[in-house]
Amino acid sequence: MSHEWKIKSIIIILIIFIMIAGGIPLYKHRHFNITIVAGPGVTKVVKLSEYCKSLKGTMADTNVFILEGKKEGGKALIMANTHSNEPASLLTALIFVENAIVEKGTLIIIPQFNNSGGRNTRPGDGYPLYFEIQTDWGKKKFRMGNREASPLDQWPDPDVYIHYPDRQLLSFIDIRNTNRTWPGRPDGPLMERVCYAAMEIMRSEKVDIAIDLHGAETMFPVTNCIVAPEKSMRIATLTSLTVKAMEGFENHVEPSPEGFRGLSHREIGDYSDTMPFLLEAPVPFLDQPTGPKTMDLLLNGKDPFLLSLSKQGKLFVPYDETGWPMRKRVGQHCSVILELFRQFSRKFSDKAIIVRNVPRYAEVVKNGVGHYYHDPKKADKKRIYYN
Ligand SMILES: [Zn+2]
Repeated sequence: MSHEWKIKSIIIILIIFIMIAGGIPLYKHRHFNITIVAGPGVTKVVKLSEYCKSLKGTMADTNVFILEGKKEGGKALIMANTHSNEPASLLTALIFVENAIVEKGTLIIIPQFNNSGGRNTRPGDGYPLYFEIQTDWGKKKFRMGNREASPLDQWPDPDVYIHYPDRQLLSFIDIRNTNRTWPGRPDGPLMERVCYAAMEIMRSEKVDIAIDLHGAETMFPVTNCIVAPEKSMRIATLTSLTVKAMEGFENHVEPSPEGFRGLSHREIGDYSDTMPFLLEAPVPFLDQPTGPKTMDLLLNGKDPFLLSLSKQGKLFVPYDETGWPMRKRVGQHCSVILELFRQFSRKFSDKAIIVRNVPRYAEVVKNGVGHYYHDPKKADKKRIYYN
């Protein structure tokens, strides 16, 4: 072998080694499952593919937890991890799955709505692959996901994404964003099928209200709020005013823009009888001008650059040395959901949704998020799900 070939062979071996060493953690992350203990209120667990057969066997299929109440009433759908880099949504949904007891009505909960996005990451932004929540029995490990579905599951992206059915031109990347692919179709790209399956749940189960949980940058005005279209506006406004007055955290209502297509708070309302609500809580981790994207920043939201921007009045949320701990964000989501149920039940008493054993803001802030998760080692094996 010539000298030149020896060097070339070494370089090729090195490249293969780097690819394998870099790929193994990504492979493990994609196949890591979160452990969920179905609480006393869960009566049935089905797959999303039951509502859209072509999801079966894909990474986009995901668990749907159903909590049927003792008495018939209204029905609510809660979706989390539509964007898996906004994890307060998932943590809130799991508090409901592991604890809620439904007295009246039915809850349908999809904790990892964009399951493919939950198995994706953003190495260019230095995202951590996992984060851990302290519980009363040890640490509970979660995957940190991405805003968009993995290209391994839906590829290639078009040059321009043409929204179905409105034909509005959207950014190419949004074809993998499950908050741009509503209302979807059963034979469209994978993310359209995910949204279509949820639409089918709402239409076939006659769901009254749908809540899509999110988080947003502190430098973005649409945060600490409920986004609602015209049909949901009255209940959203009463909810926002009540939590602000009674529980002391910031909240306001943003109207869902009619001309911006593909979003849950727009299309669910237009393509079903369900009233949609999209909830936002701050995620300092997502702001651009922060320090390293660490697990600590994700969980505590403390950042010196944001603190200095806050002093210059550049943030849309109150911000001080205490940052934005996860317990505040999850607590807000819990309270806003419970208040939406209460306001809906006041207006439609025959379709009331009465849920107990879910903490409100002050309790989550006091006890921490992890306090509400159950030890899988002590749980009945038949009640454990992996997602
Ligand atoms: Zn979001």
